[in-house]
Amino acid sequence: MLGMNNRVDLVEKITPWRESWEVHVKVVKLWYHKNPALDPSQNLLHMVLMDEKLQKIQATIRDQLIPKFVVSLTEGEVYLMTHFTVVPNTGLNRVAKHRFRLLFQYKTSFVSVVSVRIPHSGLCFTSIDEINQRKDDDLLIDFVGIITGVRKERDVASYGKMIKAVVLEVFSDGKKEQCNVFGNACDLLEYDNLQKYPRSPLIVLESFKIKAIEGGIILQNVMNVSRLFINPDIPESVEFLSSNIQDLRADNRDGHYFVIGTIKEVMDEPDWWSYSCVCGHAVVEHEDLYLCDACGSCIEHVMVKYGIRVKIHHGGWAVLFVLFDNAVTKLFEKTCSEAFLRIEEEFPVDPNVLAV
Ligand SMILES: [Zn+2]
Repeated sequence: MLGMNNRVDLVEKITPWRESWEVHVKVVKLWYHKNPALDPSQNLLHMVLMDEKLQKIQATIRDQLIPKFVVSLTEGEVYLMTHFTVVPNTGLNRVAKHRFRLLFQYKTSFVSVVSVRIPHSGLCFTSIDEINQRKDDDLLIDFVGIITGVRKERDVASYGKMIKAVVLEVFSDGKKEQCNVFGNACDLLEYDNLQKYPRSPLIVLESFKIKAIEGGIILQNVMNVSRLFINPDIPESVEFLSSNIQDLRADNRDGHYFVIGTIKEVMDEPDWWSYSCVCGHAVVEHEDLYLCDACGSCIEHVMVKYGIRVKIHHGGWAVLFVLFDNAVTKLFEKTCSEAFLRIEEEFPVDPNVLAV
């Protein structure tokens, strides 16, 4: 009866020992996968579903059923799902930790729900320390860092085709991680694409494999499953860039001159900060929209960035220097967003002034 059972089940509780499950889930990732080693004619549509408690589970639609469901399936939307089969989550390329996974059946109901909001992206970043402790695990992981090196390799053969290969060096938590990328994902890492950004790009690796090699651990993409994003316009980028001062230090490539002097005065000017895109480029505010020239689009998640002038005395001369974000972060030992928080504590500000 309607209204009798409003409570849905939690993803973490799902087991094969009961049948009448009912879940509210967001589709956080959707991909087709054929297994060329098994049956290349069989297409499978895989997805990762996440509930309001941010618990994730994998689900699969078999070949014949794909046309029935695919029309109503959109990444990022929330659905009410009932009448599915629960099976053990075994095999390679596990993307969710859950012990079980879901199989769509002909009778499965998968209905879009607009009233439930699950804003979280579903990304769950693993640190380099955690990666080093989990050598043999076949669970794919998400990773975020700053690209500090890109090396194009010779194309390699895979199932009779030649595919591109790139070796990346990614910096995070004060450490470097090697990451091998194969196939079409390499296109994003072309020199022309990366060099348009004002500073070393942030990269998000989604569902990458941890691989033990001689002398250490590397990350590697799984074709069709893994994705990578350069400077993605998501809250996680802002959070990573704002909290990781060590990364900002490593990322500091500017500076061709060495000047030793004494800062006598920090100029007290109203425009000591500006908005920037996560790619590092200044954004232009235009009728409540933020536009980034480098990314060529409207962006949703902006950062605040220093731009101050200091008077430096050296050898009897006083010179005005403009210091940008990384340098000022070092000088003040806090990022621009942290500085804003401090100001708010010290002098309550009209929130409209700082609204981002
Ligand atoms: Zn940008």
